[in-house]
Amino acid sequence: MNVYDSGRMADIMRTLGYEETDDPNCADMIIFNTCHIREKASEKIFSELGKFKPLKQARQKEGKDLIIVVAGCVVQAQSEEFLNRAKFVDIAIGPQTYHRLPEMLNKLERKRKQRIIDVEFPAIAKFDTLPQAKSRGVSSFLAIQEGCDRFCSYCVVPYTRGAEYSRSMEDILKEANELAKSGTKELMLLGQNVNAWHGEDKNGNTSNLAKLIEEIAKIDEIERIRYVTSYPSDFTDEMIAMHRDIKKVMPYLHLPVQSGSDVILKKMNRRYTSAQYIDVVERLREACPEIALSSDFIVGFPSESDEDFEQTMELVRKVKYAQSYSFKYSARPGTPAAALSCQVDEEIKTVRLEKLQELLLEQHHDYNAQFLGKSIPVLFDEKAKKEGYLLGHTPQMVNVVVKSDDSILNKIVDVKITKTSATTLEGEV
Ligand code: SAH
Ligand code: SF4
Repeated sequence: MNVYDSGRMADIMRTLGYEETDDPNCADMIIFNTCHIREKASEKIFSELGKFKPLKQARQKEGKDLIIVVAGCVVQAQSEEFLNRAKFVDIAIGPQTYHRLPEMLNKLERKRKQRIIDVEFPAIAKFDTLPQAKSRGVSSFLAIQEGCDRFCSYCVVPYTRGAEYSRSMEDILKEANELAKSGTKELMLLGQNVNAWHGEDKNGNTSNLAKLIEEIAKIDEIERIRYVTSYPSDFTDEMIAMHRDIKKVMPYLHLPVQSGSDVILKKMNRRYTSAQYIDVVERLREACPEIALSSDFIVGFPSESDEDFEQTMELVRKVKYAQSYSFKYSARPGTPAAALSCQVDEEIKTVRLEKLQELLLEQHHDYNAQFLGKSIPVLFDEKAKKEGYLLGHTPQMVNVVVKSDDSILNKIVDVKITKTSATTLEGEV
């Protein structure tokens, strides 16, 4: 979501004559987009910001300036702390107000030295005022839904991104068409609770994600459709049928379970049991046997016992994941779980995380091994780190590296897989 927001901020700045640069030394303005989801992500911004203070001071000595903007959820959650800890920040904006960047810049120019902060949840959604979207590559993000009303007891999202909001189908199709016209072949639909999308269709009726995807699939240029992140208990039969019937929907699903213990799921305020989660997985696999599954896990949620943790391990052994993201529980200020007295020791969290990741890594390794010797359609969308190599991904969202010139960049081509690991496939075009 933050990558998408950063792209949209670039779209806005382009309308003012700015261009993107990778080199801070050339920049007239630097925007930091921040994440508050875990403490580690949140603290990073203060150390990053510190690195740019000398650059701003040097610029000012030359009689010029470097405008520093901080955007995103850290600002939303800690606006006061922000202004106190980072004195040289000019503009601080929350995730729902970045469309007002032009007017804030204007204000800044008129009232030099006055710092600007905007962390409202405005009544007119930012999507109504954003400029035309432009593809930033062959694979693009498109936010269809934002915010969350679920209030999982560990999570800051409902406080930083605000209440759940679904964009209308018309608005989304307009952006999807703009992206398609400017080079997008693969579309990743985004939402904190993406499968709960319930925007209006063109007749003013409430629609659903399966119907939205059916419409997007009619755009010729869009060859691959994905969506993230889905909430397990919102996974309807219509969505399952969509995976079976619409060929452009890729066989990959990120379906975070968080924990395999029903006691912990309840304390997390997740509204499903491990059995219900497994049931969704089984029905999905029946409808679309080639589907790859990934999940998020939190270990060491307050009061998690060895037995609770073992139930998470058991669930993982049953489901078998192609990919995963696992984290130690991080107490977030203002969330109900942070106030619970039974916090788990850091050392216990570390041991559990290592055990879980060892099992998951083994599964990812086994999952990828099945592709050895097979020929798979791969969408190449960037240069790999290694000189002369390109990086792409398969329908199941597995990374593939090949030695090739740039002629296959932004194309889908068949690759014969010659080597596999837990994270990447290697092959020949
Ligand atoms: N809406 C998605 C998750 C969005 S947050 C869902 O409900 O599944 C992305 C991931 O960050 C979560 O799935 C969770 O695993 C992790 N996360 C969120 N808050 C966390 C916290 N306080 N500590 C550790 N991990 C957390
Ligand atoms: Fe956070 Fe996801 Fe729960 Fe919403 S559903 S509160 S985004 S973890």
